[in-house]
Amino acid sequence: MPRYDFECTPCAYYSEIKQSMSDPALLECPVCGQMTFQKIFISPPNIFVRGEAKTIGQLSERNFSDMGHYEKSDKIAKDRKPINDKQKEKRKQHQKIVSMTPEQKVKWIKKGE
Ligand SMILES: [Zn+2]
Repeated sequence: MPRYDFECTPCAYYSEIKQSMSDPALLECPVCGQMTFQKIFISPPNIFVRGEAKTIGQLSERNFSDMGHYEKSDKIAKDRKPINDKQKEKRKQHQKIVSMTPEQKVKWIKKGE
């Protein structure tokens, strides 16, 4: 079964979940108990090796759609409750991963830098 990254926006809990394509993309968060634990899309290396963006335009388009996702997440978080510094740090880490180029992601996943 494929594994997916899930993140809870209000409490910044993050985990990898095994599920099939037909399972819901929104689950109850095991930490805060809200229905805010949702599937996020950080491509694993075996996917972006095949679907490499070839032009600057494609790359910026991809960055832009990632940005849209996070702006939306931040808005949802703001509507619920303030997050503490530790959670902000976690979110910053996520944004860093999302803003990476595919090459940087591969490096980060393999070497942790
Ligand atoms: Zn939560």
